Amino acid sequence: MNDDYILSALAFNGTVRIYVAATTNMVEAARLTHEMFPTPCVALGRTMTAAALMSRTLKSETDTLTIQIKGDGPIRGIVVVSDSKSNIRGYVHNPHFNFPLNDKGKFDIAGAVGHGYLNVIKDIGLKEPYIGYVELISGEIAEDIAYYYASSEQTPTVLALGVLINSDGSVLTSGGYFIQLMPEVTEETISFLEKNIGSLPSISQMLNSSITPEEILKLIVGEHDFQILNKQDTQYKCNCSRERMERNLISLGEKELSEIQQEQHQAELTCHFCNSSYMFNDEDLSTLLKNLNKR
Ligand SMILES: [Zn+2]
Repeated sequence: MNDDYILSALAFNGTVRIYVAATTNMVEAARLTHEMFPTPCVALGRTMTAAALMSRTLKSETDTLTIQIKGDGPIRGIVVVSDSKSNIRGYVHNPHFNFPLNDKGKFDIAGAVGHGYLNVIKDIGLKEPYIGYVELISGEIAEDIAYYYASSEQTPTVLALGVLINSDGSVLTSGGYFIQLMPEVTEETISFLEKNIGSLPSISQMLNSSITPEEILKLIVGEHDFQILNKQDTQYKCNCSRERMERNLISLGEKELSEIQQEQHQAELTCHFCNSSYMFNDEDLSTLLKNLNKR
C-alpha cells in the first residue's frame, strides 16, 4: 500500500508556491532496506522528504536531483536522489548507531550529522550538472536546505520536515512542507506567512495528529486563496539494473577490469540504495573485456 504523495499548490495570487508531502511509507521502506537505527532513520527520512518536495520543482522528465550531506558526526554522510516523478532512493553511510537525545528530548540530528557541508546537484540535461554547495549551518537538515535556497538560488524558502519513530523503531509518520516566495510576493503576504507559520504547531505535531497534506496546506494559507496544481505519488524506488552495473564495471577501464578477472575470477557489485547484488562471473567479465577492446 502506498498513500504517500506530494501536493503542489499556488497561493496568494500565484506569488507563493507551496508543496506538502506525506512520506511515511517511503521512509519506512528505507528503514527496512537499510535496517536503520532510529537516529539515522530520522536523518535520512528528513532528507528524503526534502528531496521529494524539491523534486516538484524539476521541469523535465529526465531531470534528477541529488542531496548530499557530509559531516564529521557518526552518520558520516547522507545521499538521496529523486527523479522528476518523485521516486526517491537514499542511504546513510552509517545506518547502525545509537545517539543520545538532545536537551529537548528529541533525536539529535545535528549531533549525528556534525559539522560539514551540503550539496544539491541538479542534472537538468545540460552538459554539466548544476552543483550548489553550502556549509551546514545547523545539521538539522531543514534549516540547512532552506539556507541553501537563500544563498545559492536566492529564493526565500521555508522548509519543515518531520519524522516520528514508534517505540519498536518503525516509522510512525513522516512528512513536510516547502514554501517558496516568488519575486512578485508582497510585503503583506510575507508578514502574514511569517506570523501564521510561527503560530502553527510543529510539523511533527501536525503529523502526529494525522493532519493530511490538504489540511496542512489550508493551515498555511489561512483564509487566503490557493489552487492545487497537482498531486504526485511518491515512493522509495531504486533504478539500478544489471546494465547499469555493467557500465560501472566498464568505467573502471580495461586494466583494472582484467586485474579483477585474473585475481578474483568474478565481481560482485551491491547497490548502495537498495542492497541488490549483481554477480558477474569469469565468463561475464571476459565478455565485458572483449566489448571494451572493440570500442
Ligand atoms: Zn538499487
